[in-house]
Amino acid sequence: MASEVEKKAAFDIDSAKEVVRELRASFVAGKTKDYEWRRTQLKAVLKMMDENEPQIVAALRDDLSKPELESSIYEIAMLKNSCKFALKKMKHWMMPEKAKTSLATFPSSAEIVSEPLGVVLVISAWNYPLLLSLDPVIGAIAAGNAIVLKPSEISPATASLLAKLVANYMDSSCIKVVEGAVPETTALLEQKWDKIMYTGNGRIARIVMAAAARHLTPVVLELGGKCPVIVDSGINLQVATRRIIAGKWGCNNGQACISPDYIITTKDYAVELVDSFKCELERFYGKNPLESNDLSRVVNSNHFARLLKLLDEDKVSSKIVYGGERDKSNLKIAPTILLDVPQDSLIMNEEIFGPLLPIITIDKVEDSFDLINSGTKPLAAYMFTNNKKLKKKFVEEVSAGGLVINDTTLHLAEPTLPFGGVGDSGMGAYHGKFSFDTFSHKKAVLYRSFAGDAPLRYPPYTNGKLSL
Ligand code: NAD
Repeated sequence: MASEVEKKAAFDIDSAKEVVRELRASFVAGKTKDYEWRRTQLKAVLKMMDENEPQIVAALRDDLSKPELESSIYEIAMLKNSCKFALKKMKHWMMPEKAKTSLATFPSSAEIVSEPLGVVLVISAWNYPLLLSLDPVIGAIAAGNAIVLKPSEISPATASLLAKLVANYMDSSCIKVVEGAVPETTALLEQKWDKIMYTGNGRIARIVMAAAARHLTPVVLELGGKCPVIVDSGINLQVATRRIIAGKWGCNNGQACISPDYIITTKDYAVELVDSFKCELERFYGKNPLESNDLSRVVNSNHFARLLKLLDEDKVSSKIVYGGERDKSNLKIAPTILLDVPQDSLIMNEEIFGPLLPIITIDKVEDSFDLINSGTKPLAAYMFTNNKKLKKKFVEEVSAGGLVINDTTLHLAEPTLPFGGVGDSGMGAYHGKFSFDTFSHKKAVLYRSFAGDAPLRYPPYTNGKLSL
């Protein structure tokens, strides 16, 4: 008798082809273009969130031991907000936008029409497995596309819950979840898509982009990098420290693409800053943070080993000024601060994506801009300062996906701001109207009448015409 595993047919190239064929048929039939269909699907996302919050929280706990509050706010509430925003604005977003015309086409009028791209693929990552899966889907629905979502196999509980919920709540002739890892994603990437949105690391992004190139498929790549935090002196240090903690350990224990990766501060301010971290971290997570229920665990043993490799490099481990404890049995690493780690260490040359926070010291805070710009462009950069000139210089000189002054990570929560990277941290952006635009084609439409037919453009091209 065939085992359960054998009985479950593998998802291969033919399965991928069939999924795309079905979705394309629905798209061509015009199903997803209809405003009411888009509304119904967005409302279904809201209903799905409302009716399944405990199951979602449980899946996120299984995958990451994500604290309930973090799941409720950063995954569920953010998604609901995104969905409500799209529901409120979608009609307006869908309306053709008037464009000005010039003498070159006189008399004429023009508009820009947003049309759906077609059948799109969303490949998402494990760290915010619900948000990073469904937020792009919300944008793709609002823009009128058929969608395949491929959640990450590294967060399997959330991936299988998503597959079940999407099948139960949404129109499965137009929106499907395909679970799986490399073979399944490879089969999907063989197909022709009208857009691929990938969230994850830069190495796989190159595989995704190469596969997309074979079909001339445009891509959005939501990647990561090392997000710096500049800390100037003369600030409200307690508030700054708390906001850095919230963006680092309060976001999935540092496993977030926009979590602070390292701090830059001046030599004479570093000790005060470290003291402030010690005080606030102990206040938040207690004397034994490995036992705190308010910290996610490291997602799996591979990432646990990767983080310890960064931490246990000799020239790095000697720089620990707080934390460093680990518990392999439940994949926990305590919030860890390191002071003055060498620039050539692994931890300063790889995205950390975990609970370790190195502090680099410099002579003058102004030097931090060159330091940041000497590396690859980060997804986010932060600065704490009261100095107006420094704020201006930061905005003008630091290139990053997004900047926040006097806080961390919160730009993500603002649907009026585009969220995306630049250079190595990605290409394209989403959130709010930017999601709608990302999954739309902006079609130029020029209206002319039969009046005013200028002879200039018609042959014969006699010299006399040049003097007209
Ligand atoms: P991951 O391992 O979950 O991989 C992401 C996706 O890629 C998964 O769906 C996975 O199945 C797929 N994948 C893996 N190998 C593949 C292959 N060979 N071919 C095709 N697809 C493949 O996630 P990750 O990469 O570990 O995620 C962490 C990275 O993502 C970090 O760099 C982080 O900064 C970045 N990230 C960025 C954002 C953002 O919004 N910019 C959000 C979250 C994470």
